[in-house]
Amino acid sequence: MKKKYNDTIICFNVITIFPEMFSAIINYGIIGQAIKKKIININFLNPRNFSKNKYKSVDDRPYGGGPGMLMSVEPLYLAIQEAKSRLKNATVIYLSPQGKELKQNNIEKLIAKKQIIFICGRYEGIDQRIIDNQVDEEWSIGSYILTGGELAAMVMIDSISRLIPGVIKKKSIEEDSFSNNLLDYPSYTRPEIIKNMSVPQILLSGNHDQIRIWRLKQSLGKTWIKRPDLLKKKKLTEEEIILLDEFKKKFREKNNY
Ligand code: SAM
Repeated sequence: MKKKYNDTIICFNVITIFPEMFSAIINYGIIGQAIKKKIININFLNPRNFSKNKYKSVDDRPYGGGPGMLMSVEPLYLAIQEAKSRLKNATVIYLSPQGKELKQNNIEKLIAKKQIIFICGRYEGIDQRIIDNQVDEEWSIGSYILTGGELAAMVMIDSISRLIPGVIKKKSIEEDSFSNNLLDYPSYTRPEIIKNMSVPQILLSGNHDQIRIWRLKQSLGKTWIKRPDLLKKKKLTEEEIILLDEFKKKFREKNNY
């Protein structure tokens, strides 16, 4: 029988001292299914397995003093070389709070890379010489500090993988928040009425054009309220300008402003 997906489309190698943490994504949900279908491939390299000292330690004190430890250079370097030998065309990404902040439009570009090696830092981070000589890009998942790069790598793997054809439906991606610089419209499921709360009548009408217009208006309105910065980046069509004006008018009447 012909397999629907017979080629791995994207390969991730993750360098981490805690590969078990990744069971959170590799064994569950959509990413778990995409791995089973061989649309994506994830492998792990543990620097501890490359440590040459008898305690298999992977950390050391920083030169010049200071609090905390750093990841030792050699085990990390050897793990990176092994990953590079497996993925010859890979981009090496170090997850770092000092990296470029991840946004949906960056993820859309990262998907083109096909092979990515993620380095998950721990302790106070990694030796600058690794960053200078082995890393191609540094990415941050936000302006806050995590205890390690694993959660950040999982965020990147998840957000990149869901954009790969065959992982989820293309239509869902197109309507997600941030595509087209708009937030997603409000959604409802059964029952029609619960605890005195009902579904907007238009969604029950079966009139697809009216539903499309209602959803677009809600998307525009939600973005105007919650993320006006996104709207500023968007060139609105004539229809969108009218719908947004209608939304604003109604919103102002309702909220007396
Ligand atoms: N001392 C480092 C600094 O201030 O830049 C922070 C080290 S942090 C405690 C340990 C590791 O967590 C980092 O090496 C990095 O891999 C990861 N990390 C922490 N915050 C992150 C973020 N916002 N995005 C991506 N990775 C992060």
